[in-house]
Amino acid sequence: MPSWGMVIDLNKCTGCGACVSACRSENNVPNVGPEQSQFGRSIFWMDIMEIVEGEYPDVRVQYIPRPCFHCDRPPCTKVCPVRATYLNEEGLVAQIYHRCIGCRYCMVACPYTVKSFNWYEPERLEDFLQFRNPDVSLRMKGVVEKCSFCSHRLQKAREQSEFESRDMEEAEYQPACVEACPTSAIVFGDFENEKHTVSRLRKSYRAFRMHEDLGTEPKVVYLSRED
Ligand code: SF4
Repeated sequence: MPSWGMVIDLNKCTGCGACVSACRSENNVPNVGPEQSQFGRSIFWMDIMEIVEGEYPDVRVQYIPRPCFHCDRPPCTKVCPVRATYLNEEGLVAQIYHRCIGCRYCMVACPYTVKSFNWYEPERLEDFLQFRNPDVSLRMKGVVEKCSFCSHRLQKAREQSEFESRDMEEAEYQPACVEACPTSAIVFGDFENEKHTVSRLRKSYRAFRMHEDLGTEPKVVYLSRED
């Protein structure tokens, strides 16, 4: 079974936000507006954490993109009382929206705080339906959502390769954030496939995983800054 994962090079991330915008557009992520945003009710499938070090004028900012970590041992799936979130056959942590009862146990259990709750029926701009991605279902009030590693793209790529009776190529399944990153800071692929770049990058001497000590086995690997 493949082990889909992401390597994010913190040397290359400039915090431009292209990955966040591409993710919002690809996955129909709703905007909650400035009023709700100040109550921490924004919805993100990909977010950028900023760490500011030093004091003016010697200030350094570190940008850390954060999608769902798709842990091999996810704490969120263990606490869901209705199995609305689970580790699927592709090794990705999936959400079943119509099964979710909105208890938010999974949000509390996630040590990476990458899940978002729909407090309100999402506002759709007038022309939203025209521009939404029909491959990704819209979520409703009262359910939890999060990054899926653009699993709808995996589904399409797998169907195509099976139809043509061949193996799937690395380039055929890439999440939107990876494609949008202008500095190629985000790389995606199968950790277990030696032909895929991520299988080499994750063995780098700079590689580390967030909260490694928790034993969640996250499938997002960071490459630390060199300076
Ligand atoms: S909020 Fe939904 S997905 Fe999360 S634990 Fe509760 S029912 Fe499961």
